[in-house]
Amino acid sequence: MRISHLSLAAVLSLLLLGCASQAPQSTIHWITLERLAESIQKDAPMAVGFDIDDTVLFSSPCFYAGQQKYSPGSNDYLKNTEFWKETNGGCDRYSLPKEVARSLIALHQGRGDTIYFITGRPHTEGEQVTTILQQTFAIKNMQPVVFTSGPEKTRFIHDRGLHLYYGDSDADITSAQAAGARAIRVMRAANSTYQPLPVNGALGEEVLVDSTR
Ligand SMILES: [Mg+2]
Repeated sequence: MRISHLSLAAVLSLLLLGCASQAPQSTIHWITLERLAESIQKDAPMAVGFDIDDTVLFSSPCFYAGQQKYSPGSNDYLKNTEFWKETNGGCDRYSLPKEVARSLIALHQGRGDTIYFITGRPHTEGEQVTTILQQTFAIKNMQPVVFTSGPEKTRFIHDRGLHLYYGDSDADITSAQAAGARAIRVMRAANSTYQPLPVNGALGEEVLVDSTR
């Protein structure tokens, strides 16, 4: 009898410890599209920015195909110029536009905001990403895609005076925060080739509800 009570207590303690070691969902600053729209409705037209991969495009088909072609089983393909030429050169016709991006872009274009796309991909000659995004999302006042060749985007966000920046990676959030922009996390789809998934909300940023697709 005594032993079973002790065991029960041990099990309960472990359960409690298990709960405490995970980031409680209630501490995440969730925001809906509606609340976001309300929060900016009185603001004058402004410049806003979007990351590309896993934020506006589910581009894993290009990354999966590139890995199979250039470095099966490793990430070396990401250092291969030919891979980037192909990917920037039109592969995004196979990338799926995210529904959340359509909604966000409609919201911002409806306000008359200027939209910038800033990607960590390296620039390659003959890039088609600008044209594909312009067509896919029916961008009215298309700006050339900014290629930063790495995750750090602070300078680019700052120099264009972006008020909001949307991204799925931690570096998107920290870059936006460092540049003084409002950082909003768009959630990466669970089946993205880009693993591990980030811990959404861990940087104190707002996390957009229902943004994985
Ligand atoms: Mg991304």
